[in-house]
Amino acid sequence: MIFVAMTGCCAFKTQKLLKLSLSISPAASVCWRVAATRLWSSSSSSSGEDASGSSMLRHLTSKITATGPISVAEYMREALTNPVMGYYVKKNMLGADGDFITSPEISQIFGELLGVWVVSEWMAAGRPKQLQLVELGPGKGSLTSDILRVFAQLQPVLSSASVSLHLVEVSPVLSRLQAQNLVGTSDSVEVERENEPVYRQGRTAAGLPVSWYRRLEDVPPGFSIFLAHEFFDALPIHKFQRTKRGWREVMVDVDPDRPGRLRFVVAPSPTLASTTLVQSDESRDHVEVCAEGGVIIQQLARRVAQNGGAALIADYGHDGTKTDTFRGFKGHHLHDVLASPGCADLTADVDFGYVRRMAGTGVACLGPVAQRTFLKNMGIDVRMQVLLRNSNQSDKEQLLRSYETLTDGAKMGERFLFFGLLHPSRLARPKMATGLKLEKKAPAQPPIAGFTEIRFA
Ligand code: SAH
Repeated sequence: MIFVAMTGCCAFKTQKLLKLSLSISPAASVCWRVAATRLWSSSSSSSGEDASGSSMLRHLTSKITATGPISVAEYMREALTNPVMGYYVKKNMLGADGDFITSPEISQIFGELLGVWVVSEWMAAGRPKQLQLVELGPGKGSLTSDILRVFAQLQPVLSSASVSLHLVEVSPVLSRLQAQNLVGTSDSVEVERENEPVYRQGRTAAGLPVSWYRRLEDVPPGFSIFLAHEFFDALPIHKFQRTKRGWREVMVDVDPDRPGRLRFVVAPSPTLASTTLVQSDESRDHVEVCAEGGVIIQQLARRVAQNGGAALIADYGHDGTKTDTFRGFKGHHLHDVLASPGCADLTADVDFGYVRRMAGTGVACLGPVAQRTFLKNMGIDVRMQVLLRNSNQSDKEQLLRSYETLTDGAKMGERFLFFGLLHPSRLARPKMATGLKLEKKAPAQPPIAGFTEIRFA
C-alpha cells in the first residue's frame, strides 16, 4: 500500500499519479543509458583541436586583436553558439561517445518522475484546458520523450487538456535529433525555415503537436510548464574580480608570450558589466553573473505570473556562495576553458541566489533542493522496487548503477539542484470553510511534489 505524508487533495492527487505512472510496464520501459557523467573525473591537456576549433581560435584572435580583450560572456557565447562554428550548433556532444552525459540520458526514471511532476502541477492549477510543455535546451530530446510515456500512461487524467510540446533549441543538429526521437520519421517534420520563429514542426506518434523555436520569447503565451535541465549552466557568464580599486571584469585576451593561445586578463578600469552586475553588498572576492540567464528567468517569471503554470530548473549550482566555477569538458574529462574554443563544452554553476533575485516577487520560488532529495520525494525508490522486481540480473545491476549515479551525494545526488518558480496562488493557504466551528487551524499549505516529502509503505 502507498501512503502519503502530506495533507490535502494535492497530496492525494500526486499519490494517485505516482501509482498510475508506476504501472508503466517495466519490461517495455527498461532501456538503459549508462556512461560516465559530467562529473569532474580528471583533467586533460589542451591538445586535440579540430579544423573548426582552429578557425574559431583564429576568429577570436582577430576579433581581440582588432578591438581588444573580450568579456568571458562573449567568449563563451562565441565558443558555444556561434551560428557556424559554435560547439552546440555543430555536433551532438551527449552520451558515451560525446563529451558528457546528463541525468535524462542515464536513466528513463528521471524523465518519468519529472513527467509526474508536470501532470501534478497541471492538476494543482485546476486542470486548465491547455497544457504547453516547454523544454529549454532539450539535448537529444530524451527528457521530453520519457515524459511523453508518462502522458500516455496518464491519458485518462489528461484527456480534458489540449497538450502541446514546445522546444527552445539553438542547435540545428540537436533539433534534428530531437525530431527523430519525438516525431519519428523525418517526413513528418516540416522543412526547416530559416527566419521564422517556429523553425520546425511535427507531431508525436500520439498526435501531439511539437514546435521548435530558437528563443523563449517566440513560444506562444498560455498555461505552460517549463523545464530547463542543464540549460542555464550553458549560458554565458561574466566574471568579476574584487581588486584594491573596486570590482573589475575578467576578460579574455591573446597571450603575447604564447602564439595561438588565449589568456585571462583583468580590465584596468570598470566596464559597463562590472558597474551594473555586481551587487553592492557582495561579500565574495570573485563572482560569476549569468546576465543572459537572468533575462530568461525574468521572462519565465512573467509568463508564469501572467498565464499560470510553473518552471522547474535543474542544474549544477549553488546558492550564491561559490566563486570560480567556469570549466570545460571534452571526452568526459575536465578541459582547459581557453583551449580549442568551439571543440569543448563550457559551463558554469548556476547561482540560484541570483535566479531568485531575477525571478522577483511576482512568483513563488522553491528550493534549491538537492537532486537526491527531489527524486526521493518524487518516489524514485518505489519506482526502483517495481523495476527491480521485474528485471533480470544484468538489468538489475544496471538499474542500481544508474540509481546510484543519480542519487549518490558524491555523484549527481548533491551537486545537482532543483529550483521551482510557481504561480503565487500555488502556495497560498486554502481559505477556511466558514461556519465550521470545529476547525481551529487554517488548512495546511498545499504540498508541491518533489519539494515536499512523500512517504511510501
Ligand atoms: N537538457 C539536455 C541537454 C543539455 S546540454 C539534457 O539534460 O540532456 C544544453 C542544451 O541547451 C543543448 O540542447 C544546447 O543546444 C542548448 N542550448 C545551449 N545554449 C542555448 C541557447 N542560448 N538557446 C537555446 N538552446 C541552447
